[in-house]
Amino acid sequence: MNIGKLLTKSARTFPENLAITCGTKELTYAEFNDRANRLANGLNRLGVRPGDNVAVLMYNCPEMLESMFACFKAGCGVIPINFRLHPREFAFIIDHSEAKVVIISSEFSEAMVDVHGDLPRVSDILTVSTVPEPFLAYERVLSAESDQFEDVEVAPDDVAWLFYTSGTTGLPKGAMLTHRNLLAMTMNFYADMCPGFGPNDVALHAAPLSHGSGCYALPNIGKAAANVILEEKSFNPEQVLKTIESHHVTNMFAAPTMIKLLIDCPAIDKYDHSSLKALNYGGAPMLVDDLMQAMEKLGPCLVQLYGQAESPMTITYLPHADHRLDGDSDRMRRLASAGMPRTDVEVRIVDSDDNEVPPGEMGEIVTRSDLVMRGYWRDPEATAETLRNGWLHTGDIGYVDDHGYLFLMDRSKDLIISGGENIYPREIEEVIVQHPAIREVAVIGVPDPVWGESIKAVVSLVPNREVTQGELIDFCTEHIARYKRPKSVDFVEELPKNNYGKIVKRELRAKYWEGKASHVI
Ligand code: AMP
Repeated sequence: MNIGKLLTKSARTFPENLAITCGTKELTYAEFNDRANRLANGLNRLGVRPGDNVAVLMYNCPEMLESMFACFKAGCGVIPINFRLHPREFAFIIDHSEAKVVIISSEFSEAMVDVHGDLPRVSDILTVSTVPEPFLAYERVLSAESDQFEDVEVAPDDVAWLFYTSGTTGLPKGAMLTHRNLLAMTMNFYADMCPGFGPNDVALHAAPLSHGSGCYALPNIGKAAANVILEEKSFNPEQVLKTIESHHVTNMFAAPTMIKLLIDCPAIDKYDHSSLKALNYGGAPMLVDDLMQAMEKLGPCLVQLYGQAESPMTITYLPHADHRLDGDSDRMRRLASAGMPRTDVEVRIVDSDDNEVPPGEMGEIVTRSDLVMRGYWRDPEATAETLRNGWLHTGDIGYVDDHGYLFLMDRSKDLIISGGENIYPREIEEVIVQHPAIREVAVIGVPDPVWGESIKAVVSLVPNREVTQGELIDFCTEHIARYKRPKSVDFVEELPKNNYGKIVKRELRAKYWEGKASHVI
């Protein structure tokens, strides 16, 4: 099925339901569908054909969802681009994806004028702006078209979304997500993440629609639920809490750093967040200490997911029922895990020869399901390396316990090898974050003339708290083996994060490794 039909069907069955609200704008499902149809017709008129690609560069706004669904309906691949990228970086993605048309929000007009000359394959640029020159006005394109559109028949393996990886470890690559992948992701959301999800639910998009929150929009739209889009360009915890109360939000996706901002927000008790049924978090490690605080402050609404661009939203999950503040030690240990494989997903841990290893043993996490991407766009080498023997090789290291729970340690590129010993930064981070003075921590490997790499902790502090390097190292020695304690600690105001709230370790490592060969940068 063309994934765009999720909208077509909801508009037919629930035409009057609120589909999108953003600031003062409101669209019903009938209006949303009409506008997506008009845009699909407009793309056609501009020469875009099924199989072509269209890039979308916008801050979160209703037009972003319209553009995504217009592309799905027209049988084109959509490339939602991270709005925080530097113009050189987004120009790379537009050019690499061979997008024919680019749709932008007004904030990007100037930058597009600058890079336009380097994009010979782009025939038209549409802008959601009241002053569209020198580009085409989005609204004018829509108003010239019919609101009727026959959704294009697609093959299950046709590309629907080119999901460029966030590039925390290298140059972005475009994961080709097909209609089959996105439908499986949607069905899996209903089965595992939010059983009973329906037209009365209200989903808040406080994270970028170009990434996690955009994936969640699909199941929301498939059930004619309301999508509340925040106009803020960065995550504002008080605004999020206020919106949860005013719109009776039931569902929301947040990266762990966003959850931390929410629970650290002094206004957390000022607003009623009891409507929240599912606060889905993931995309980066959630340290246990932070998770316990979140459970205490937010109540029984947390659900963890583990996925990646190459298997969107869906590899494993830690359900509501496993988020407990009491229980035997086995159950409590699960809070440190990424949960169990999703219903129709297979997960294995393998060694470097792709042999499955027994429970408890560390190895690379591989997965197989209808969720796994078709490959990387125009990159057969990376595709062959990642999709081997029918399994997606995630590049993540972890182990499963006897009950099949997955414990995710780190990305293989974040592993520290010191004196031949493998050290998993996550283990050290879990300890350091327990210190009352620590707000955030990242542990990295830095060059060491004797050991190859040594362990460095980079931390930011809770306001008005202090701790010295020596005290933190002693604190680690009390909790973990001596060889795992950091040799040095750097104090920073804020750890570098990408647009999706993930700590970018590559950026942290770069200054120490400059001019030195390393497998880790
Ligand atoms: P991306 O492709 O940008 O979504 O990044 C995916 C990567 O984020 C995964 O390969 C993991 O390294 C990390 N990640 C995603 N979900 C989790 C999770 N629940 N816990 C720890 N790391 C995660």
